Amino acid sequence: MEPAVTQSRETDALVFDVSPYMIEDGPGIRTTVFFKGCPLRCSWCSNPFGLSPRAEIAYNQGRCISCGACIAACPQGALQLAGESIAMDRGKCTVCGSCVDVCLSNARILTGRTCSARDIATRVMRDSQFYRRDGGGVTLSGGEVLLQPSAATEILDLCRSEFIHSAVETSGYGPWPALRSLLERCDLIFVDIKHASDQAHRRLTGVGNRLIMENITRTAQHVQEHGTPRFVLRLPVIPGLNTDPENMQRTADFIAGLPGRPEVNLLPYHQLGVTKYEMLDMVYGASDVPVPSPTLLRKYERILRTSLPECGCSSGGWQIDRTVSAVRAAAVKP
Ligand code: SF4
Ligand code: SF4
Repeated sequence: MEPAVTQSRETDALVFDVSPYMIEDGPGIRTTVFFKGCPLRCSWCSNPFGLSPRAEIAYNQGRCISCGACIAACPQGALQLAGESIAMDRGKCTVCGSCVDVCLSNARILTGRTCSARDIATRVMRDSQFYRRDGGGVTLSGGEVLLQPSAATEILDLCRSEFIHSAVETSGYGPWPALRSLLERCDLIFVDIKHASDQAHRRLTGVGNRLIMENITRTAQHVQEHGTPRFVLRLPVIPGLNTDPENMQRTADFIAGLPGRPEVNLLPYHQLGVTKYEMLDMVYGASDVPVPSPTLLRKYERILRTSLPECGCSSGGWQIDRTVSAVRAAAVKP
C-alpha cells in the first residue's frame, strides 16, 4: 500500500532546518531544505531530526550551563535538574518552545517548524548570488520530501521562476504522482537503493522496496522520455548490512535493466549523526557498524563499473560532478 500524503495546509511545510552553504547533494554551493517526517526507519540514518512528522525538542547537554532557566519556563513541569544536565519527561512536553526561547546557550533546539512554501523559497533566494557564481542552488531533502509534495512543488516552482538550480533527495517511498510532480519541476533528482531484496529492505528500513523499485523504474522512463531531470541513484554503503557481494551484484543488475543511463553515487556510511540521537533521547541502532574501508568501496565500484560500463559512478555526495566529467572524458577517448 502506498503511504498517505500528510500535510496541514496545501502550501505549508514542516521543516526542521534550512541550511545555507552546503556543498553536498548537488553541484556548487547550495541551500538545503530539510523536510520533517519519514516513513522509513533505517538503523544507520544520520539525521534522526527528520524522522518524526511532528516537531520535537532536542537537548545538547554539551552546551548546557545548568542555569535552570528552561525549568522555570516550562508550563508543563516537564523539565528537572539531573546532576549537571536537564532531564525531560517527553510525555508531558507539548513542544510549546518556551524552554528554547529562554535558553541563551542554544542547548535546546526546536526541531520542526511550519513555514509557508513562499517563505522557504524567499529564504533560499537570499543566497542566490552564491548559486549564480558557481552553479549551486536549492536541494530539497529530509526526512522525506514525498510526504509533503504540495509545499515541495511550490518551492520548486518559485525557485524555477528565479532560475535557481534545484535538486531533490528522496527515498522513493511515496506515491508516484507526487514523485512525478517533483520530476517535472527539478533539475536533479537523487533516489536511494538501500537493498535489492524486498525482505532485507523491510528488515533494515521497516518497509519493503517494491514501491521504491517501481518508482525508480518509472523515474528512469520519465527521464528517458523527457530528457530531464538529471537522475542519480544513491547506494548507501553500510558494511555488513547491504555490502554482501550478492546484494551488490543484484543492485547492479537492477540498475543495468533500467532505461537510459542513470548515474550511480555510493554513499559511504558514517557516524556523524550519533549525537543527534542522544539529543532526542533516542537509541542509535547502528553503533556497531564500521565505516566502509577503501577496499570495500573499490570492490563495490568495480562491480558497478563492470555491470554498468556506460553509467557514471562516484563515491561521496560531493563528487557527483566528477561522475559526469569522467563519463564524458571516457566517451571522447579514441
Ligand atoms: S517545549 Fe514547552 S512543554 Fe516542552 S519542555 Fe520545553 S517548555 Fe516544557
Ligand atoms: S536554559 Fe539552556 S543552558 Fe540553561 S539549563 Fe536549560 S538547557 Fe541548560
